[in-house]
Amino acid sequence: MQHLPIFLSVQDRDCVVIGGGEIATRKVAQLLRAGARVRVVAPQLCANLAKFRDERRIEHVARDYRDGDLDDAYLAFAATDDEQVNHEVADAGRRRRVPVNVVDHPEDGSFIMPSVIDRSPVVAAVSTGGASPVLARLIRSRLESVIPAGYGRLAELCGRFRDRVKQTLARPDDRRRFWDHVLQGGVAERVFSGHMAEAEALLERELAAGSGIQAGMGEVYLVGGGPGDPDLLTFRALRLMQQADVVVYDRLVAKAVLDMTRSDAERIYVGKERDNHAMRQEEINQLLADLAKAGKRVVRLKGGDPFIFGRGGEEIDTLASQGVPFQVVPGVTAAAGCASYAGIPLTHRDYAQSVTLVTGHLKDNTMNLNWPQLAQPNQTVVFYMGLKGLPVISRELQAHGMPADRPAALVQQGTTHQQKVFTGTIATLPEIVARERPKPPTLIIVGEVVQLQGKLSWFDAPAASTQGATSPITPGTELTH
Ligand code: SAH
Repeated sequence: MQHLPIFLSVQDRDCVVIGGGEIATRKVAQLLRAGARVRVVAPQLCANLAKFRDERRIEHVARDYRDGDLDDAYLAFAATDDEQVNHEVADAGRRRRVPVNVVDHPEDGSFIMPSVIDRSPVVAAVSTGGASPVLARLIRSRLESVIPAGYGRLAELCGRFRDRVKQTLARPDDRRRFWDHVLQGGVAERVFSGHMAEAEALLERELAAGSGIQAGMGEVYLVGGGPGDPDLLTFRALRLMQQADVVVYDRLVAKAVLDMTRSDAERIYVGKERDNHAMRQEEINQLLADLAKAGKRVVRLKGGDPFIFGRGGEEIDTLASQGVPFQVVPGVTAAAGCASYAGIPLTHRDYAQSVTLVTGHLKDNTMNLNWPQLAQPNQTVVFYMGLKGLPVISRELQAHGMPADRPAALVQQGTTHQQKVFTGTIATLPEIVARERPKPPTLIIVGEVVQLQGKLSWFDAPAASTQGATSPITPGTELTH
């Protein structure tokens, strides 16, 4: 280790920044955040620093650096664009034992500045010892994504309870288990989702119940798993999936997404839609409630978004009426995922001012939809569950005034390695589909925006090259991705 990592208190200390440009501004801003008194030595200030000066947040010494400027400094930054001056500042620091950071030449000074993840009071700092600031920033951005923004609030809450927990739980082992439970359980999740009062109330209850481990009630997380590509999961979805004791999932959840759940979590498959062995919706609702009542943290994993053709509303209705705590985590819905990965913008200034999501599920061989409205121009209509009913969709839309040449696309297994995009018109799509037999799940997109697909498509499913070489594709009608 080349440097000693420390967190230094600069509260009300005199810190000096030599230089008045943008780089100096960043250091000044950090010093101010940490409560330092800041003096800037520079003939001129950039606009941001001038603003700090006008607001009296910094003192400005309007001249070049001169020997003696570091005399009463606690800490100094050399941030001019003149290497020689920076060097002199570093030299002066060494002589007077004032720690100096030389911006851009860290080896010249006595300390370096890390990349910071600020979730105050939680602060994480990353350094590569000056070898690669860009790498440090990259690591920082990775950490940013795994340290939820709510960690600051969580630390603050823990800080307030620290003494009381110490009094209640005398043994250090018990305290550690208690805090483990708080930081990975319902309290933390409530903090992350912004429910501070509830989090505090739960913490109170768990403290009153002793170690908190036996607090009894679990929780259900209704998680949108997105259309298939696991990269499209939200951070919150991933965090909850990795904490779950039980994962309840169905057919639509892609394997790659299911694989992101904690490996030792119990997995319960609740079946296919038309499978006789499938659990009925009421049974699923009750299963979720029962698992949570047995103290489990349950992830109910759904394809796409739980509130878009996902029956999420019914599931949480049961939970709410039985007093089971739950959270809903949105996911990328199939329309958004498939459209992006197929290169079809769902709205477009010239072609579509609105987008409608409808179910194309056949009931008694028909669909009870507002066809005259769906046949209107200047909009995009997206059919979920429409593969079987495509001939009906095609027929009804044309019967209600949609021109036969309105572009239409069918996206098979969107966002996955098996994605394929078939394009045609509302009149020809049923034939194309009958010939090509796409595999579910599939999504149908109808509207002028489909004509942009050829130009805007960008996603190459890795399997494309072999599939493309072996399947009989008519250019322009079927596009393999
Ligand atoms: N809640 C889900 C939709 C459930 S309904 C969501 O928000 O996406 C199931 C229908 O979604 C399927 O019949 C299909 O039309 C569509 N669908 C889901 N994932 C898909 C995918 N990866 N590719 C194409 N269509 C998909």
